[in-house]
Amino acid sequence: MTTPEDALQESRAAYEEHARTCRQCHFDMSPCAVSKLLLRAYNNARRAQARTDAAVR
Ligand SMILES: [Zn+2]
Repeated sequence: MTTPEDALQESRAAYEEHARTCRQCHFDMSPCAVSKLLLRAYNNARRAQARTDAAVR
């Protein structure tokens, strides 16, 4: 089972990996469509985890 924290770390790793390797992001100096998708997934995971933390504490 994937915990919200796992999901958060995975989505952040995917986003950072993309930011490092994507030529279009570097070429344009602005995030490409894939980067925006990954960033949105990362933000969603972060929000999901914040909810989990709030429920626990
Ligand atoms: Zn990109």
